[in-house]
Amino acid sequence: MRRMTTLLLSLLLLLSLTACGQGGPSGGLIGDEAGPPAETPPEDEAPEVPDPEPYLILDPTVMPEGGVRDGVTYVAYNGIVEHLFFHPVVAYPELAFDGDAQDNGIDDYMVTADEYRKILQSVYDKGYVLVDIGDVWSETTGEDGQPKMVKDTLYLPEGKKPLILSYDDTNYYDYMLANGFTYKLILGEDGKIASWGKDPQGNEVVSRALDAIPILDKFVEEHPDFSPFGAKGCLSLTGYAGILGYRTQTDTKSWTAAQEAVRQKEIDAVKPIIAELKRTGWTFGSHTWGHIRLGSKSLETIQADTQRWFDEVGSLVGPTTILFYPHGERPDGNDWQDTGPVFRYLQSQGFRVFCSVGIESFSYIKKDICGVICDRLHPDGITLRYARDRYLQFYDAKDIMDMDVRPQRGTNWS
Ligand SMILES: [Zn+2]
Repeated sequence: MRRMTTLLLSLLLLLSLTACGQGGPSGGLIGDEAGPPAETPPEDEAPEVPDPEPYLILDPTVMPEGGVRDGVTYVAYNGIVEHLFFHPVVAYPELAFDGDAQDNGIDDYMVTADEYRKILQSVYDKGYVLVDIGDVWSETTGEDGQPKMVKDTLYLPEGKKPLILSYDDTNYYDYMLANGFTYKLILGEDGKIASWGKDPQGNEVVSRALDAIPILDKFVEEHPDFSPFGAKGCLSLTGYAGILGYRTQTDTKSWTAAQEAVRQKEIDAVKPIIAELKRTGWTFGSHTWGHIRLGSKSLETIQADTQRWFDEVGSLVGPTTILFYPHGERPDGNDWQDTGPVFRYLQSQGFRVFCSVGIESFSYIKKDICGVICDRLHPDGITLRYARDRYLQFYDAKDIMDMDVRPQRGTNWS
């Protein structure tokens, strides 16, 4: 038995080291995104044809404890909870892949709206159902009287597998606006979340088909059993360029009353968007204010950044226990074997679920502090081209990747 335990531990160690390692395509970010303050996109919105389909609203916190409900049998699930994350999706490939300096970065880290739709269809067809990241682990008191995280038993429709989705950098950075992404989230005429942006000809476009968030909303409307508890995804927000396409950030270099007045208007404008996202199953996490490296910045820098995130983002989206590491970089350089000063500080600020990027949906409940670390898989150009096998449980890159619109950079499977 002891030998078995040792073997198991070594295996776990090996597995985790691989998952946490630097090798292989990992990371999942577009360079250093911090840039100059963003230009505010125009306010007026084009009208949209009302969509007659109603939202299916369920209480996202309801996890029935087994048994039969509405003809569906719910059974206990204690296996791996898969976790996929996306960046904003490419609305207009002809702008994203137009031969400029951003092409390869977008190709590496993003999928197009069409590819994203096909990925959703495939994970749905393969029996995954959406669960909220906040329902997978919870805080409890251990036998020693100390708080600790535990993995919850999920009760899922029989035969289904749980899937967490998260979306990094849903801020609508400046560079994205010129490169074929949508500009911001708005409420359409029907009151539902839509995107606002401009097509390659410069026409204003309000749509529910061009942005990852309304695309998932629409998919769940069409396939309500994809989200049996009303969960959608967790939006991972920085603060330096505002949030959700609204320029709610401050600038410490110069700040005038006029700038503050504009900021207050943006804050007023984003509040109903946040409320509607929450109402329809979306949750929020921190991606740090300045998209900073948690493995190499000083503790003082990280403390100031965290406070600024709470002031400018947390004040709008509410409390969160979820932290998504920028660049996938782990606090103190290693959050698994060590619990360093940065990790301890972040945990003291209320974060409990710490998400990196890796080659599998690895998760580990820390023993010495109340927190859980987890790796996420990253559907994007890199893994579509070079990690087809690892993603076959979700989709086949051959069926997903749009070779006609992406740069001709090859794959290791075609
Ligand atoms: Zn990021």
